[in-house]
Amino acid sequence: MKVLKFGGTSVGSAERMKALVNLIHNDEPKIVVLSAMSGTTNQLVQITEKLYQNLNQEANALIDALHTKYKQVVAELYSTEDKQKQALELLQLHFDYIRAFTQDLFTIHEERAILAQGELLSTALFQLYLEEQGINSVLLPALNFMKIDENEEPDADYIAKNLKAELAKYSGTNLFITQGYICRNAFGEIDNLKRGGSDYSASLIGAAADVSEIQIWTDIDGMHNNDPRIVKNTYPIAELSFDEAAELAYFGAKILHPSSVLPAKQKNIPVRLLNTMQPEAKGTIITAESAGGSIKAIAAKDDITAIKIKSGRMLLAYGFLRSVFEVFERYKTPIDMITTSEVAVSLTIDNAKFLNEIVAELQQVGQVEVDKDQTIICIVGDFLEERSGTGLKIFESLKDIPLRMISYGGSKNNISVLINTTDKVKALTALNDGIFERRNINA
Ligand code: ASP
Ligand code: MG
Repeated sequence: MKVLKFGGTSVGSAERMKALVNLIHNDEPKIVVLSAMSGTTNQLVQITEKLYQNLNQEANALIDALHTKYKQVVAELYSTEDKQKQALELLQLHFDYIRAFTQDLFTIHEERAILAQGELLSTALFQLYLEEQGINSVLLPALNFMKIDENEEPDADYIAKNLKAELAKYSGTNLFITQGYICRNAFGEIDNLKRGGSDYSASLIGAAADVSEIQIWTDIDGMHNNDPRIVKNTYPIAELSFDEAAELAYFGAKILHPSSVLPAKQKNIPVRLLNTMQPEAKGTIITAESAGGSIKAIAAKDDITAIKIKSGRMLLAYGFLRSVFEVFERYKTPIDMITTSEVAVSLTIDNAKFLNEIVAELQQVGQVEVDKDQTIICIVGDFLEERSGTGLKIFESLKDIPLRMISYGGSKNNISVLINTTDKVKALTALNDGIFERRNINA
């Protein structure tokens, strides 16, 4: 059994849904995980924003516009009157459900229920299309098995037990369709795995069902060696280790949700990144093994805040780092990068929600400086201790760019530097020229 996850653009129109059938219709047993049609989750977010502001008329206008868009999809997708009618009824149900929330006080529970409609719609419409094509498939409701606990962490045991129970009901079936992103929480309410969470769903489902491979299908041909939106001549990386892929995903490669690597790694299930627009392209395969070679890829993460804390006491003070870290722990704010000297520590966060509170508490420990609009440039590869010269290549390339922090040696897969966001394009381009272009010329 395999898991195949298709993102929003892969189900983004009637035409794309029709094309999808060619990729999944064969004898291989599989669970197909779908995102909402592209744009839908954003539109649902806008609707919830209006509802929070009590702008019900505006919310209704947005709901009507989305409903109309879906009616158009139905008109293009189905060729039989029977399925057209069924699909329109289905839309009516879902959009009436969304409209019902405009009547009453709007809370976070309602918000989550609305956000779940995108995946519920895409999977239901696709299942109807498969039925119309005479293809045997079963729609598995993710809300029957996908669950997070009170810490908003996936409940792996619950998911495995309930998913297996669902699958066992249909022993003759080879093709299952289910929703990415949505789940139930510890209270049994509808919840979600956060934006972009369908990849995470796919990986959790793959781990729960002990599949042989997890495929993430998007509209780019794998994870690239640099940001293709910024740098020309990037290329897909054929092979990555779980750790390298996790670093790249976390530090900016948009193609894969960072949390989705761990469940696959724990069960040692290969993850393959593939392109629906170019299904024959090899893409990227992520496994326990690294393909060797030193520098594999570069990614950048914006909106980083750097905080420097200078110890009030002087040399040889112990307990200083602990008191610094405790502040971040209290505000549940993860630290990304950290560098230290004897009297000061610099670190970065990407969630600045509690910045003011954090700074106020850190001021009890020492002198605090804050720099906003920073970017982490993360260089990923296999940096064995015994390999020399990697640092030289990187810093030589970056010689004209002011570096705020450098982190090397934390893991053998990552070298990170912190720069001003205004220098990002320059830095990514310089690294590309210095590392990859040169390699291409030599090759
Ligand atoms: N539809 C959700 C989103 O847009 C989940 C996903 O597509 O991964 O964030
Ligand atoms: Mg995605």
